[in-house]
Amino acid sequence: MKKGYVTENFTANISVDEYISRFRDEKRFVEFCKQCPNYGNSWGCPPFDFDTGEFLRQYKYAYLIATKIVPIEKGIPIDKSQELIRPERIRVEKELLKLELRFGGRAFAYVGKCLYCHGAECARKCNRPCLHPDKVRPSLEAFGFDIARTLSELFGIELLWGKNGILPEYLVLVSGFFHNSTKNIISHTNRNQNSVNL
Ligand code: SF4
Repeated sequence: MKKGYVTENFTANISVDEYISRFRDEKRFVEFCKQCPNYGNSWGCPPFDFDTGEFLRQYKYAYLIATKIVPIEKGIPIDKSQELIRPERIRVEKELLKLELRFGGRAFAYVGKCLYCHGAECARKCNRPCLHPDKVRPSLEAFGFDIARTLSELFGIELLWGKNGILPEYLVLVSGFFHNSTKNIISHTNRNQNSVNL
């Protein structure tokens, strides 16, 4: 059955130095990553074979995007969450890659299973290189950022969890773009109504 949801996109700008000093705790968050089956099994996930702090510090500015997904109807089961999240991940990741092309810099996608091998096992499991390195980007969590605090302190949005198998009032995807451009990065602030089969 077609059911609707509304997305609202919010953006925040912060210097990379400040974002790292206030919101990054790599040692703490990598422990959460280690509990996920994607750890070491997806090229978008830790462990990384380079110094992530050094990688981040090559950029001066962080442009962060919070995508709030609000189901129009209440009572949607949690196991339907990907039906709402996936189209928004696809849309936001496309926008982030466009920002890379336009401004240089590096995108950080929403955490979750990689979108680009369409459900096939990641090549990393067989020690083979990524099949889509031009598209795959790690999440901010994978680089040690605290997403709950990012949302509450930079966006004024509380991260909600589902209860009794039902989705919360809204979901939020947090992604980002690290760059050195002094040009104004395009704002993604908008509101759209969408529908999906649930
Ligand atoms: S594109 Fe394929 S090979 Fe690359 S990280 Fe995703 S699943 Fe793995």
